[in-house]
Amino acid sequence: MSTFNAPKGTFDTLPPASAEFLAVRDTLVAPLRRAGYGYIETPTFEDTTVFARGVGESTDVVAKEMYTFTDRGGRSLTLRPELTAGLMRAFIEHRMYAGALPVKLWSVGSVFRYERPQAGRYRHFTQVDVEALGVDDPALDAEMVALATQGYRDLGLTGFELLLTSLGDETCRPQYRELLVAFLERLDLDADTRARAALNPLRVLDDKRPEVQAQLADAPLMVDHLSDSTRAHYDAVRQHLTDLGVTWTEAPRLVRGLDYYTKTTFEFVHDGLGAQSAIGGGGRYDGLSAALGGPDLSGIGYAVGVDRTLLAIRAEGLDVVTSAGMQAFVVPLGAAAKSFAVRLVGQLRAAGISADTVYGDRGLKGAMKAADRSGATHAVVVGDRDLAEGVAQLRDLRTHEQVAVPLGELLDRVRATVGS
Ligand code: AMP
Repeated sequence: MSTFNAPKGTFDTLPPASAEFLAVRDTLVAPLRRAGYGYIETPTFEDTTVFARGVGESTDVVAKEMYTFTDRGGRSLTLRPELTAGLMRAFIEHRMYAGALPVKLWSVGSVFRYERPQAGRYRHFTQVDVEALGVDDPALDAEMVALATQGYRDLGLTGFELLLTSLGDETCRPQYRELLVAFLERLDLDADTRARAALNPLRVLDDKRPEVQAQLADAPLMVDHLSDSTRAHYDAVRQHLTDLGVTWTEAPRLVRGLDYYTKTTFEFVHDGLGAQSAIGGGGRYDGLSAALGGPDLSGIGYAVGVDRTLLAIRAEGLDVVTSAGMQAFVVPLGAAAKSFAVRLVGQLRAAGISADTVYGDRGLKGAMKAADRSGATHAVVVGDRDLAEGVAQLRDLRTHEQVAVPLGELLDRVRATVGS
């Protein structure tokens, strides 16, 4: 019989490396919890329309990358290609806007995009997602950027850069768009690029091909055409960021993958990752709630790619501090000792100590090897003869020192020893 591989563009995260994944995820999330963000969990799939409207029909994500299927009831559903649209759907459905604003939310989970797989680009990956909904305050934009920065710093990362710009809003973007369209019409562009320009001309600014970039040197830029209100907003964001000790690079050509961004837009890139250098990004999306049938409320958010952040950590050669592993390992020798070991492991775990034992018939040598491999600092070695004498051997696996401990004191002694 043939065996199976994980689907193309996906990968399995196995122990012990998976402990690093969890540690990165939790470190990215910790600043959010400290800043009053509440956890939200939404389904992994939504009505396809949620993404078509909430991400934007003109985006690559919606046009080419969605995993869409019809369920047995004839509904068109899509595996989420990002988390924001689903969170916004829940925010509207549960009328969360009727309470105190802003509503601050975070989530983490799997996202799915049918992309061409390469290093750092997968079809299934994990994002930490953060949203602050219902208030348009530049201080909130700065908070978002600062929280993302804090997560990277807490992981020890230094090789990242924050790219920042403003994409304007309805007070200036339509006029700017006309200027840009007029400019693009005069260029020598292929049919595909023209089609892209017709859907969203800003996208062309982000074209990586040198022959296109060469023609864009004099392109009009949004930041030079901001209205008074969006300029004041952007100035305030930058002042708050300075006050918060966050540094950035102005990136007037930054265009992000999703259609709904307005005003502040940002992306974090890392210099150790090659082509897929974005480790996170986000921005303000003042039209999204209305686009999904909700009230006309503003919002800002960002998503961090957990997998790519882990790649950045490896690229910098950093160690991820994972939570303490196994503490105690129980090695029984003999039938009576086996039942004792099963009971002791249960008691140790109930007392909050991470403990394990051997399963199957391993013999002393195999069992001691398993104890070493578990990473435990201490082993409790107990034979039928020890039991008859009312003791067990408590062994320090690092120094190999061993003492006999009366069974009645064993639990307390292990607790005191592994805790030290
Ligand atoms: P986006 O939702 O496209 O702004 O992506 C947010 C973050 O998710 C990016 O900065 C990446 O870190 C990560 N990301 C996006 N697409 C992929 C992918 N195909 N594979 C792995 N990580 C990704």
